[in-house]
Amino acid sequence: MDIVVQKFGGTSVGSVERIAAVAELVKKSSNKDKIVVVVSAMSGETNKLIDLAKNFTQNPNRREFDALVSTGEKVSSSLLAIALDSIGIKAKSLSASQISMKTTNSYSKARILDIDSSKIMQTIKDGYIPIITGFQGVTEHGDVTTLGRGGSDTTAVAIAANLKAKRCDIYTDVDGIYTTDPRVVPEAKKLDSITMEEMLEMAGKGAKVIQIRAVEFANKFKVPVRVLSSFEPGSGTLISLEENNMENALVSGIAFQKDQVKITLHGVVDTPGIAYGILGPLSDENIEVDVIVQNVSVNGKTDFTFTVSKEDELSATNIIKANKNALQYEDVLIDPSISKVSLVGVGMRTHAGIASEAFKSLAENDINIQMISTSEIKITIVINEINTEKAVKCLHKTFNLDK
Ligand code: ADP
Ligand code: ASP
Ligand code: MG
Repeated sequence: MDIVVQKFGGTSVGSVERIAAVAELVKKSSNKDKIVVVVSAMSGETNKLIDLAKNFTQNPNRREFDALVSTGEKVSSSLLAIALDSIGIKAKSLSASQISMKTTNSYSKARILDIDSSKIMQTIKDGYIPIITGFQGVTEHGDVTTLGRGGSDTTAVAIAANLKAKRCDIYTDVDGIYTTDPRVVPEAKKLDSITMEEMLEMAGKGAKVIQIRAVEFANKFKVPVRVLSSFEPGSGTLISLEENNMENALVSGIAFQKDQVKITLHGVVDTPGIAYGILGPLSDENIEVDVIVQNVSVNGKTDFTFTVSKEDELSATNIIKANKNALQYEDVLIDPSISKVSLVGVGMRTHAGIASEAFKSLAENDINIQMISTSEIKITIVINEINTEKAVKCLHKTFNLDK
């Protein structure tokens, strides 16, 4: 029998009834394949833990924060194992430390370095279904880390890669990957498949249906990944490893990200090395910087603008302010009310004019574009946050994604 990794997200295990339903689903699949399960915390639990810590400070001790927020997955994994046991299926919950899921020590955004598959394999050999805690890892010193919000997806794909599983099934609360978030655009269409590179761009630009690191793992280790519903039967969406040879749609999907801030350094002295001077220290702190624009300089001074996620706003501005003398700028301007909307499609490679069509549609809808960045298969625009839904809806229509 082949190994299949099944990951269940927060809503899928959000109540005892849901955990019972998932246990039945796992029981049924275990007739066909050897199942390894990865679970998220019950929905809302991770947020509750985060809020508990923030009662004390906005900047909680990073080690303790991860030790705390990782506990939701302990609860759900043991509960699922109890539920399976109660219906006659032997199952064993396993934490990150029990399977030696080693990560870097960057708390809250740790990266997986290595997994010891022997414990998982032994559990299977002993006749148990392993129920592994998603989201968490351990450093080489045994301290608990977490993999960033949505990180259970990455746990699942990394384990699938490590065990050379036939497939990794990501069970969630929608029945697949859609042209855009179906909760925002009800006309969004489910895709039967999406190419790996499109999914990389969609996930990287905010389609939270699967975490970007999970897609990166799948791409690197060639793990077939399927996204499907744990609530209703269906084949879901396959993230395909093969290049699609069929006539591709110009735009396959639209992703958006609201939790963003725009940081502008005004009056920067324009000398060689300024971009590195500004962004180097941010990257040293693992802060991801996106859309970057440096303007034409006037009298040797320029404006330098970029976006970071809201989560990183405080650390990013602290670093920039701490470097004020070295960086030589006049002011830092923070705009917390922006969002990014991205059009993604491999069809863009061979078709010109998509950007101008998108800009026309936004202009007709009175939406002002603040920044633009493009790559071969993606166009990202930065706009005022209040226009996010409006922009996604009008672009979705312009590119006939509802058809
Ligand atoms: P889980 O708890 O199962 O990990 P998430 O909430 O992290 O689930 O991800 C599923 C959600 O992702 C959906 O409920 C949907 O609102 C959102 N989503 C965003 N973009 C898309 C998209 N393109 N296709 C499907 N779902 C999307
Ligand atoms: N429980 C974690 C979160 O809420 C991880 C996950 O759900 O994937 O982000
Ligand atoms: Mg998720």
